[in-house]
Amino acid sequence: MASKAYDYIVVGAGAAGSIVAARLGEDRSVRVLVLEAGPSDNSIYVRMPAAMSYPLTDQRRTWSFETGPEEALGGRMITHVRGKMLGGSGSLNGMVYVRGNPRDFDTWAKDGLPGWSFAHCLPYFKRLETYDKGANIYRGGDGPIAITTLKGDLPVFAAFIEAGQQAGHPLNPDYNAYRQEGVHIYQANIDRGVRASGGRAYLRPALRKGNVDLKLNALVHRIDFDGKRAVGVTYEVDGATHTVEAGREVVLCGGAFNSPQLLLLSGVGPSEELRALGVKSVTDVPGVGKGLVDHVAVSVRYRASRPGVSPAMDLNMFKMGLIGARWLFLRSGLGVTNLWEVGTFFRSSAAVDYANIQHEFLPMLGELMHGKVNIEEGFQYQTCLMRPKSRGAVTLKSADPRSHPSIISNYLAHPQDQRDLIDGVRHTDEIIRQRAWDGMRGQALTPGLRTMPDADVLAWLKDNLGTQYHPCSTCRMGVDDMSVVDADGKVHDTEGLRVIDASVMPRITSGNLHCPTMMIAEKLVDRVRGRTPLPPQIVDYADRH
Ligand SMILES: Cc1cc2nc3c(=O)[nH]c(=O)nc-3n(C[C@H](O)[C@H](O)[C@H](O)COP(=O)(O)OP(=O)(O)OC[C@H]3O[C@@H](n4cnc5c(N)ncnc54)[C@H](O)[C@@H]3O)c2cc1C
Repeated sequence: MASKAYDYIVVGAGAAGSIVAARLGEDRSVRVLVLEAGPSDNSIYVRMPAAMSYPLTDQRRTWSFETGPEEALGGRMITHVRGKMLGGSGSLNGMVYVRGNPRDFDTWAKDGLPGWSFAHCLPYFKRLETYDKGANIYRGGDGPIAITTLKGDLPVFAAFIEAGQQAGHPLNPDYNAYRQEGVHIYQANIDRGVRASGGRAYLRPALRKGNVDLKLNALVHRIDFDGKRAVGVTYEVDGATHTVEAGREVVLCGGAFNSPQLLLLSGVGPSEELRALGVKSVTDVPGVGKGLVDHVAVSVRYRASRPGVSPAMDLNMFKMGLIGARWLFLRSGLGVTNLWEVGTFFRSSAAVDYANIQHEFLPMLGELMHGKVNIEEGFQYQTCLMRPKSRGAVTLKSADPRSHPSIISNYLAHPQDQRDLIDGVRHTDEIIRQRAWDGMRGQALTPGLRTMPDADVLAWLKDNLGTQYHPCSTCRMGVDDMSVVDADGKVHDTEGLRVIDASVMPRITSGNLHCPTMMIAEKLVDRVRGRTPLPPQIVDYADRH
């Protein structure tokens, strides 16, 4: 047992935790301890964008959760990987950089969080980024996270962009600015060919200053309370248990599955459920773990009509070595991309308010695992439902902090989600029938999506859909009875305890979650520091009410 007092203890060095710790450490009189369950991110496979698939199967650097049994999917279990290392999931994700639709944040404000409208969030989106095309009223020019607009210059990407336009989706030069809808070339958090994560861009530099300490391979078991005040945490390293005190606050940044699990293990949650597992209740916060929502994704796949459509088909050890060497010495070539270079945002039907479907496009079939494994000539439109109505839950299976919680997402349980995704994949198939694909489109691997009856499309969806890896809202920010934290991230009915990560999102955003999670961290850490929030910035944007 060892004890050393810090002002702040940050649990988890992920996307949000890295930013929270680094910003807190800017005040040199403050001492910050970050406890991270996983190891360092010091691996070429983390840094090199093309090597993204390696850390996904590195058991030391991942949490391999499962969600299910998913009732609406016939009881399927779905594997749900998360990052477990410095940088968290930001050290293994696809680096696709999307803020979400401004309307998402205005809805948060309408739900009772007036300080979270898009105008209030925009200055923080700008603070975190350096956009490669330069600062403007929408975009930041000197933040820690470098944003690179990908090239999208292969013929297969040109066909994607052209087909989208032929189907009525205008080319959008910056989906993170005035308008989200349309076809686009993706922006990615890549810094001159190297993955840019919160871990690398914020936390690593902060560690050099002396007042921010990081303990790796340290699994936090619980938050320690004095009454309702969080006073420290208990954690485990190499089988030994330690406690450490927090003079000011404990900030949970464990992500959408682990943060609610830690609250529950610590006695903050629905007291009856906790009592049944032998966990002593600190306070009854019924919503902990309850609002789980996630983006579902399904791929519409086509073979290529001829060889040469997909890049990187004939990789052998020698060619992979060349790609690696070119990346290492020149920061160029295929090593700088994971090939998620183009996409679309669109409405599944005219009845939908604003874009609710996202495409992420991979110019090959199969998964590019470790540079090879079952990849074939072809292409796939990963079709993602961006604002699902289905809700799931994270609950404890046991009071053992080393065991995974139960996670049930209830994918496609809500009839509106079924309707929207059926419409979304049907329209996707229409896009692929456009002239631009004529020279490359081969056999459909999902035949008849446009003409099949709804029931058959739904059956296909249930067998084939998976996660886009965007769980959130399990410690929802809000003012209603089932919310868990207030507008400043403070856990209801406790003191000295906040949650700052994807779990606090009041509602899921329309697009990938890394960027909005980093924005939330930037914004909430100002509240932890007692700083006046940056003044709201009102800009014009499409689809404004
Ligand atoms: C495979 C994959 C691909 C993705 N692709 C994209 C993408 O292309 N674009 C995008 O925007 N988003 C993407 N995401 C989502 C994005 O990465 C996450 O939404 C984001 O990282 C969430 O940030 P977070 O801070 O909430 O959690 P995380 O970044 O997951 O960080 C949580 C950290 O807390 C640590 N931790 C948890 N419990 C404990 C404990 N008990 N003790 C100590 N430490 C603990 C974890 O090890 C982890 O390091 C992807 C995610 C995955 C998994």
